[in-house]
Order: sequence, then C-alpha cells, then structure tokens
Amino acid sequence: MELIDTHCHLTFKQLIENVDALLQRSREANVTGWLTVGTDPEHNQRCVELAQSRKNMYAAVGIHPHEAKDAATSIFEDLKTLAKNNKVLAVGETGLDFHYEHSNVSDQKRVFLEQLKIAAELDKPVVIHSREAFNETMDVLDNCGLDLPDVVFHCFTGSAEEAKKILDAGFFVSFTGVVTFKNAQSVREAAKIVPLDRLMLETDCPYICPEPLRNKRPNEPAFMIHTANFLANLKNVSIDEFAQIVTDTSRNFFAMPELVSEP
Ligand SMILES: [Zn+2]
Ligand SMILES: [Zn+2]
Repeated sequence: MELIDTHCHLTFKQLIENVDALLQRSREANVTGWLTVGTDPEHNQRCVELAQSRKNMYAAVGIHPHEAKDAATSIFEDLKTLAKNNKVLAVGETGLDFHYEHSNVSDQKRVFLEQLKIAAELDKPVVIHSREAFNETMDVLDNCGLDLPDVVFHCFTGSAEEAKKILDAGFFVSFTGVVTFKNAQSVREAAKIVPLDRLMLETDCPYICPEPLRNKRPNEPAFMIHTANFLANLKNVSIDEFAQIVTDTSRNFFAMPELVSEP
C-alpha cells in the first residue's frame, strides 16, 4: 500500500529540523510520497531544493493569501521561473482567506489571479486555499477568463453543498485530519459525496493532527494513515482499495511520476 501526502509544509521550522527521521516514520506508515507546499518566496525556494534532494518528493510553489500584502509585481516572474522546475508539480497554495485577513481582500484577489495566470500558462494544476471565502473563491475561478488547468480545494472543511459545487465545476477536493474531528459532521457529509477519483488526502502538517492524536504535537506525514483509515471506513471500502484509488487520483492530478522504492 502507498499513500501520498499531497499537501505538507516540510520546510517549516517544526518539521525541517528532523525531516529525514520524519520521512522514515512516514514510509513506515505507508505514506511514501509527498508534495511539500510553499507559501512565500523563501519557502518556495526551499521546497524546490528539498524536493530535488529527496526521492518521491515534489513541490508546489505559490503565495499564500496571508502573504499577499507583501507581493510586489516582480515576485511573479520569479515564481513562474521556479514553477518551471521539473520537481514542481503545481502552483499554490493560493486563494482567499477571510478568516484572518492578514492581507486585504483586493491584494488577496490580485495575487490569486496572478498565480492562476501562471498555472494556466504553464499548464500546472492549482492548489487552492479557501477559508471563509468559498463563494468569492469560486467567483474568481469562474470569472478569471483563463483556460484553467486542474484545481483542488485543499484542506476542505466546507459542507456537502459546497463540495458538490466544486465537483460540478470539475475540481477536486482534498481532506485533512479535520474530517476525523468529533465536531466535523458536516465535513464528513461532504466526504461521503466526493467520489474517490476526485478525492485526495493531505496532512497540511505541521498543522491539524488527526484523531486520535489531536493536539498532541506537530502533525507529520506519518499521521495521515489515521485520516486514510477513517475515510476508507466512512466510504465502506478496504484501506488497500482506498489507498490504491486515491493514490492514482493524486498521481494523475499532479502528473506525479510513479513512486520509486527506497534503496
Ligand atoms: Zn492552506
Ligand atoms: Zn498549507
């Protein structure tokens, strides 16, 4: 069995210090591929370097909506150059976050749109971060006038109704450990309606430990196995079948090469 953590932040301080031990624990938990996701120019660069030096690891590069206020026009040229690297499989995370509003709405929209243009031009999929901004995010995607590549809503915590809108638009849905939380019944209702060929898994580590580890320590890729088991159970399929389909979905979505076994 092999699973891919399609959204982790391995360059963040809590994780990078012990990254090789963490990857070994991940392999032992059958999470054998990783997409490490950048959020600003510095982390984008580090994500690419890390991915270049590790098997089965790939990167996404983007400007998180929290960082939008600092995004000068020149950074998009650099982002595009970096996104052409063969280890970079996606643009993101990018989108809108009205929960914290670390950056104002118009900056967030401008920076989101610039990244959609890069993704369309390079024909790489887009990793969307959308928090308390579902309708506005869909509006930008609907009205951007671009021939968009594949799109995934990462760390989906919305309702079944929102999940249906994402599916109807042809996009994908990615779930974190949030789906295991006791108070997340509406997220579970959403997970029930997302077919496995449109569903992906992620940790979003170092954040969001799944049950039963919630709040214990920084999350890490190995812990995704709890989310996988939980969702396989919810979907009424064996974990092996679940892993096979969802890993195929993830590899196809990101055009990720076949995972290689470690020496
Ligand atoms: Zn995010
Ligand atoms: Zn993230």
